[in-house]
Amino acid sequence: MKTSASSLYRTLRQRLGAWYDREARDLPWRRDVSAYHVLLSEVILQQTRVDQGMSYYHRFTEAFPTVYDLAAASEDEVLLLWQGLGYYSRGRNLRRAAQIIVSDFGGELPRTLEELSRLPGVGPYTRGAILSFAYNLPFPTVDGNVYRVLSRLFALTDPIDTGAGQRVYWQLAEELLDREHPSRHNQALIELGALCCTPRNPHCPECPVQEQCEGYRRGIAETLPIKQGKTRVRPRYMYYFLVRLGEAGATSRLLRRRGAGDIWQGLYELPLIEGGEEPLSTETLLAHPRLSALLGQLRAPRLHPQPRARAKHRLSHQQLYAELYLIEAEGLMPPTEEDEQPWLLIPEAEQERYAMPVLLTRLLEEAED
Ligand code: SF4
Repeated sequence: MKTSASSLYRTLRQRLGAWYDREARDLPWRRDVSAYHVLLSEVILQQTRVDQGMSYYHRFTEAFPTVYDLAAASEDEVLLLWQGLGYYSRGRNLRRAAQIIVSDFGGELPRTLEELSRLPGVGPYTRGAILSFAYNLPFPTVDGNVYRVLSRLFALTDPIDTGAGQRVYWQLAEELLDREHPSRHNQALIELGALCCTPRNPHCPECPVQEQCEGYRRGIAETLPIKQGKTRVRPRYMYYFLVRLGEAGATSRLLRRRGAGDIWQGLYELPLIEGGEEPLSTETLLAHPRLSALLGQLRAPRLHPQPRARAKHRLSHQQLYAELYLIEAEGLMPPTEEDEQPWLLIPEAEQERYAMPVLLTRLLEEAED
């Protein structure tokens, strides 16, 4: 049994490696391999398609050619470049990881799992990717593509969203690893998942390991991998207020930086009232104490009670519904002690220097159309 498993693994390694040598896409982070580039590309590509991530990778390598440049950047600079990519904690963590690499590791990415674990946002997959892709060290790595390929190749039904299930896949990836060519091998599994063993309609006739694929043989490939449970998606209703201050041609807007403990930490946004999981009626919204407080901070405010724009946005666990209202005013009242964090007064022409959630930029574009 052991012998047949090892001969199967050997065949799979050979076939995957030869296929990768022929078919691998020419991607920029494969052309110019360094641990810093692997870190950048892998963090950018988490939850992001390659075609979308590519332009962000170029932006980052141009703005921050070395880990020292990224470590020296402000959080605002990083978030502005990250704008539109979502999951903004990735951008913040990337900058903090660069700072630790510079302060604790002399500017070079570490070469051990333990040391890499000290970098925020660098989880098991990215650690394995850095060690194998950049340093060609014999470590497995398992991302969504690899879970799918392994579950189909070996007809595994262990759920990929439980700790116990994930341990099965990591163990298998370790056993299957090509210790002589770990970089090529790991990237071949990922590439096979991206190009051939796709979530729907896998291209089995062109697959280099079709003869060895148990999922294909049993006709169950497309039903794999298994996920145990779906997470509940929570609706969330948000009401933004575009507060325009001043005369036409010289207007400013109120912005505020979002704090910690919620989505979009560190991004900028307009005044906001949260409706929770239920929409607010117009009456409730217009009588909302936060709106009264906002109007109380403005000189001669004029609220337009009809929404100027509506938009929806899906996050992994939240479905956001947002509306945008317009308030015009002559200016701001002097701040009082009860006022929360003070507003930033931003000239309209400078708004694009502030990173905002995509949902809000879409609302603003629609309102300005
Ligand atoms: S034969 Fe089909 S299901 Fe099996 S690994 Fe190849 S593409 Fe995936």
